[in-house]
Amino acid sequence: MTGATHELEAEVVVVGAGIAGLMAASTLSNRDVIVLEAAGRAGGRVESVRQGDYWINLGTQFTEGTGPLIEALERHQITMGTLAGKKVALSLHGKQVDTSNPFGLMVRSRMSFMDRVGLAAVGSRILAAVPFLELNPDNRLAKRIRAKLDARSASYVLRGVSSEVARDMVRSWSGQWMGCEPEETAATQFVISMGILLTDPAKVPNFALPEGGNQTLTDILAADLGDRLRLNSPAKSIEWTEDGVVVEYEDENGPGRIRARRAIVAVPSDVVVQIMPGLPPEYRAAFNDIHYGRYVVVGFFTHEDGPQRWDDYIAVSTPQLSFQAMFNHAAALRGPGPRKPGGALACFAGGAVADRLFELSDSEIVSRFTADLVELYPELEGKLGEGVVRRHRRVVPFWAPGGRDSLPTLRRNLGPVHLAGDYQLDMPSLADAAASGERAAQQVLASLSHSGALASDPTIPG
Ligand SMILES: Cc1cc2nc3c(=O)[nH]c(=O)nc-3n(C[C@H](O)[C@H](O)[C@H](O)COP(=O)(O)OP(=O)(O)OC[C@H]3O[C@@H](n4cnc5c(N)ncnc54)[C@H](O)[C@@H]3O)c2cc1C
Repeated sequence: MTGATHELEAEVVVVGAGIAGLMAASTLSNRDVIVLEAAGRAGGRVESVRQGDYWINLGTQFTEGTGPLIEALERHQITMGTLAGKKVALSLHGKQVDTSNPFGLMVRSRMSFMDRVGLAAVGSRILAAVPFLELNPDNRLAKRIRAKLDARSASYVLRGVSSEVARDMVRSWSGQWMGCEPEETAATQFVISMGILLTDPAKVPNFALPEGGNQTLTDILAADLGDRLRLNSPAKSIEWTEDGVVVEYEDENGPGRIRARRAIVAVPSDVVVQIMPGLPPEYRAAFNDIHYGRYVVVGFFTHEDGPQRWDDYIAVSTPQLSFQAMFNHAAALRGPGPRKPGGALACFAGGAVADRLFELSDSEIVSRFTADLVELYPELEGKLGEGVVRRHRRVVPFWAPGGRDSLPTLRRNLGPVHLAGDYQLDMPSLADAAASGERAAQQVLASLSHSGALASDPTIPG
């Protein structure tokens, strides 16, 4: 280490190598680009661990949606691990019921009459809104319903519901799909996520578990960048003028500085606020409106020999256990033909339950989850591998009621600095993060090819 700042120049610097930054850099691959990543690996919230034929997604669970993410998976010929025909279930009072048929759920679950009434009220509120949210977002009616849901808290689905079981289930759904409590978030995202659980998963476009895990794609995108991707190199500050950007960073050689014509900043919202001290107040406020869900995840490789009763289930909600959901990543591998021995399961807790688990040691979390998983499926006794724990303090972004009004600000570039990340487009997700990265890169390419475009950009501060 010399102590002297090493200086680099590039046409574009990308800050952050999650899916948004990787997609941006891959779109700019024939330009002079440098990618700075704080961690020792690329992928950000995408992480998979593998063992033999199986993998566990410890970050992003499912791939879904349309656009650049799906195109990249296809371009790189990654097998999509389709979930067509697979089911989701609810385990209540020790009984497991298929939830892709809401009627069956009501009739067959173990619950009292009042619980059924409460759950019917919750389900009908969610299902009444879903068709409008599935419409083209430019549709006038869809806009009105969205605006209404954006303004109210997700806990509206519990209005007048006294059933403890129904309340526990809503809390657990909100925890397992968004990582937050229903009171924390505006209703839109909650209703969309719940719509997936209560409708046929086959209706969700490209709902899949890519083979090898979601990290298969980020690994390929990172490898394609070669030494243009700099790991263990956190950006410390980003400043910009009309002519370009200066990014201060650090790596194993000490402090560094990159001068570039453009930057794409693809880090989580709280990091943007830290490393861009010159953010105009409306951008700072819009970033501060973003909150993140919390998850504790424990992944288990399993060692069973033959077919199991969860083989066709991709997700089982478990509102009465120490984790709120179990995802079965091996479901993508179960099709016609002989079943391979073994499997891969991930147990999830989110929101307030995750907050409480954060206070425990990894071994205590694993032992609680193991006990409950074996209670759910006693045949797993002695068949669970070592639990792999991840504590996520940033799952997907969400907004408090009314908080999303500030979001359009974050879609505008700050002169030569373009923003990207899962907070930026419609529905925070892996697909939206990927789309935001590609979109930022296309904007950069367009601005580089239009000389003088920067000078006339009204968003340049000062
Ligand atoms: C457990 C879990 C389950 C999920 N399940 C799903 C799901 O089923 N479906 C779905 O669509 N989405 C899911 N998500 C959300 C999805 O993973 C994210 O929306 C998406 O990965 C976000 O990508 P990103 O590139 O915007 O951010 P990130 O992945 O957070 O990438 C940001 C990158 O910036 C880096 N960074 C931070 N600070 C700096 C710095 N100072 N300098 C340089 N680099 C920096 C980080 O290390 C990181 O690599 C899940 C998330 C989690 C955590």
